[in-house]
Amino acid sequence: MAEFSLIDRYFKTAASAQVDLGIGDDSAIVSPPVGEQLVICTDTLVAGRHFPLSTSAHAIGWKSVAVNLSDLAAMGATPHSILLALSLPQVDDAWLEGFSQGLFDCCAPYNVQLIGGDTTQSPHLTISVTALGWIPTAQGITRSGAQVGDYVVVSGQIGDAAFALQHLGHPLQQRLDYPTPRCELGQSLRGLASSMIDISDGLAQDLGHILKASGVGATLSLDQLPLDPALQVLAPEQRWQYALAGGDDYELCFTLSKDNYQRLCQLNPTTPFTIIGSIQAEFGLRLEYQGQPQSLPLSGYQHFA
Ligand code: ADP
Ligand code: MG
Repeated sequence: MAEFSLIDRYFKTAASAQVDLGIGDDSAIVSPPVGEQLVICTDTLVAGRHFPLSTSAHAIGWKSVAVNLSDLAAMGATPHSILLALSLPQVDDAWLEGFSQGLFDCCAPYNVQLIGGDTTQSPHLTISVTALGWIPTAQGITRSGAQVGDYVVVSGQIGDAAFALQHLGHPLQQRLDYPTPRCELGQSLRGLASSMIDISDGLAQDLGHILKASGVGATLSLDQLPLDPALQVLAPEQRWQYALAGGDDYELCFTLSKDNYQRLCQLNPTTPFTIIGSIQAEFGLRLEYQGQPQSLPLSGYQHFA
């Protein structure tokens, strides 16, 4: 199949009111809303590296969008559109059917449009998605604003995906294959969170980025980690390893003052969230269990290990 018929068949969608010019020309044209800034990110998934080779085409399509919408959520942005750069070893219709369906299934609930991309042949299946979103000017939530005394909070449950990777076929594989980008929660944290990051490489490492960028430290209470029942029954070191150093969670980790935490509770977001610690002036990440300091050998996901 020629590149163009492949694009027409699987990826061309009707232009929406939000997009001035979508797929089909040399570039797409979009008009940013007045008073808002463009927020833009890109993330690549390589077969066998970022997902097991056994992953379904539908899940790969979903996840390639979800990980990018998660990055937008972590800034507090409203997602708008994506571009897709697809490198395929061969044209496999069944695979493309599943992949494009998964991609659009993840776009639909967030009103995200596919507005362009590139399609090439390559020995390795590689999917790069670029996502665009909007944030009211100067309201983007960065990693650098955590303040001494703030709570450290995470959304959802952590460690599920890392556990599932070691237990393929377990019901938690749904969390590995179909992460939920926390777009609504991210947006409701505008003006409330002092810093935010999405957890892709493990909580300890990703919270570490906030601490470094903000010039502060934190203490986490291991008793408070929101864990699935399947992890709660594991030996403590094992469950903490999944939760703190596993990765692929795509939950939000954010900091906010006590007053803003109360405001967030009043907003009553649909996504659950849990206080897991607090920010202190003393640098570094400290762990406590039942009020006692704990030391754990932790490492997050290393991209060049
Ligand atoms: P060019 O050669 O000018 O880069 P292409 O022939 O690669 O253009 O692409 C033609 C049109 O199809 C462009 O609008 C491009 O954005 C879009 N496109 C190409 N591949 C994809 C894809 N995998 N998903 C979505 N749109 C795509
Ligand atoms: Mg091209």
